[in-house]
Amino acid sequence: MNLHQYAETHDVTNQPPSLDGANLYRIDLPLQQWSRHFGAGWAQDRIDAYGALAGGPLMAAGFLANQNKPQFSSHDRYGHRIDLVEFHPAYHELMRTAIEHGLPSLPWVEPREGAHVARASMTYLHSQAEAGSGCPLTMTFAAVPALKLQPELAEYWLPKVLATEYDPRNVGDRHKVGVTLGMAMTEKQGGTDVRANTTRAYPVGAPGPGQAYELVGHKWFCSAPMCDAFLTLAQTDKGLSCFLLPRHRPDDSRNQFYIQRLKNKLGNCSNASSEVEFRGALAWMIGEEGRGVPTIIEMGAMTRFDCMVGSSALMRQALTQAAHHCAHRQVGGRLLAEQPLMQNVLADLALESEAALALSLRMGRALDQPDDPQQAKFARLVTAVGKYWICKRAPAMINEAAECMGGAGYVEDSILPRLYREAPVNSTWEGSGNVQCLDVLRALSKESGVLDVLFDELGDGHSDPRLAVHIGNLKAAFADTGDIQYRARQLTEGIALALQAKLLLEAGNATVSDAFIGSRLSGSGRVYGVLPRGVDVGELVARSTPNWPL
Ligand SMILES: Cc1cc2nc3c(=O)[nH]c(=O)nc-3n(C[C@H](O)[C@H](O)[C@H](O)COP(=O)(O)OP(=O)(O)OC[C@H]3O[C@@H](n4cnc5c(N)ncnc54)[C@H](O)[C@@H]3O)c2cc1C
Repeated sequence: MNLHQYAETHDVTNQPPSLDGANLYRIDLPLQQWSRHFGAGWAQDRIDAYGALAGGPLMAAGFLANQNKPQFSSHDRYGHRIDLVEFHPAYHELMRTAIEHGLPSLPWVEPREGAHVARASMTYLHSQAEAGSGCPLTMTFAAVPALKLQPELAEYWLPKVLATEYDPRNVGDRHKVGVTLGMAMTEKQGGTDVRANTTRAYPVGAPGPGQAYELVGHKWFCSAPMCDAFLTLAQTDKGLSCFLLPRHRPDDSRNQFYIQRLKNKLGNCSNASSEVEFRGALAWMIGEEGRGVPTIIEMGAMTRFDCMVGSSALMRQALTQAAHHCAHRQVGGRLLAEQPLMQNVLADLALESEAALALSLRMGRALDQPDDPQQAKFARLVTAVGKYWICKRAPAMINEAAECMGGAGYVEDSILPRLYREAPVNSTWEGSGNVQCLDVLRALSKESGVLDVLFDELGDGHSDPRLAVHIGNLKAAFADTGDIQYRARQLTEGIALALQAKLLLEAGNATVSDAFIGSRLSGSGRVYGVLPRGVDVGELVARSTPNWPL
């Protein structure tokens, strides 16, 4: 008897071919088009090269870095305090690759048209492979405008921050060519309410900007605690002020920066988030004394931008997996991607993904025009609008994409569970949903001309009457100031949808813009997969499905 014949229980059929090794740029037509559209045509080769890395070695590293969480040791075996977080080599590979390709530095060292868009496009690819490493990469990138406010500190730190060299050694910053930066604002009694910070700063000698202080207090969240220095907030006699606090002192001794423990988080597992205490930690004041919030907001604006990019990336990766699965999976003898109801769902997810990318890169475009006051106002407003809307849309969208894959989408190695767990962090940190909506109101009320810039951008003579009506309604909604805080989410959503619709309309793909406007501006659509009749769902699905063979 041939026993072997019974060992073979079945053939594997009706499973999609592997996407491993796919170049995430080449399978992403919207990314190619939107990055060119917003001025990063010159960077396509670089983005393409990063797409190959993101879909290949970085994707593999992403799984390893999340399976092997960072480990914290407060003391060494002899009882000395060490405050050490150790990461899996895959995490370092992710960090090294990103830094060597300029993800935290590109627009600062090559400030040309499209530089922010190019960098955002590469970050978008990186975050699809692994999002946790995005936290220190973003903070390093985002700290630059704040650091520049204190030229003598910037002179020493900026060349290291902008260097394309990753050095994770636990040694003093003066031994390093390249460094990473973190941010510690949130305290136990208040995250949104940073003015409630109790951490206190005492001048070592003369007080004031650029001077040395010793900080005493705690921070309830300090992500990436192995960064070389942190922007932080502490109270002085003149109020809350911003400081740069290095992990080592200039004499190479450890600063009085103590990691209490790591957070056990929902997602974002490759990234260590910690609670820390400062017990006389040496730090230098950045910006004006008592003006800590406006100083650190320079950093917050950039991290919020990256939340938009990061959530767009999570949605795109979820869509890629779902569309690929459905293009190869049959149910009832017919491919899912050809079945009308699944087409409706996939097409709807594709619209969400593309609209998120378009708004994120439009924001990059505004950042690429720092000398244009109109664009600065636009960026001020849209940072809050986009951070709210895109980050809010991501978890539900990813859930739907996972469901398209059936049980496979609930299993870790499909990547969907990781994307799903990751998504809420972008809407929570750096100002949660309500905070962003209230910030929209603040931008409109505190800075003159922001509303005009918004409506200039939107225009009103659109070829699509549904968008014109929506914009008219939005104007009326802003003209009515009653209960404005209560209505802040509705208003912010209205702005986001108007901007996304306008961008898609202008880009000239009528199938995309018509479906977006028909579904998003009609008031229906609390779940995905309820596109109106008459949409060319086949085209929308094809636009987002990786061509096979790759
Ligand atoms: C994974 C992770 C990493 C983080 N890393 C860092 C870090 O590196 N550095 C750092 O400083 N912080 C970090 N944070 C902290 C984060 O920025 C804060 O948690 C966040 O800003 C919210 O602050 P909070 O937790 O104190 O919530 P609260 O301020 O208590 O807010 C609770 C809720 O109330 C809402 N709310 C606040 N004000 C109003 C209002 N006026 N009207 C209506 N609703 C309101 C908020 O939107 C929120 O939903 C991290 C958080 C997470 C989850």
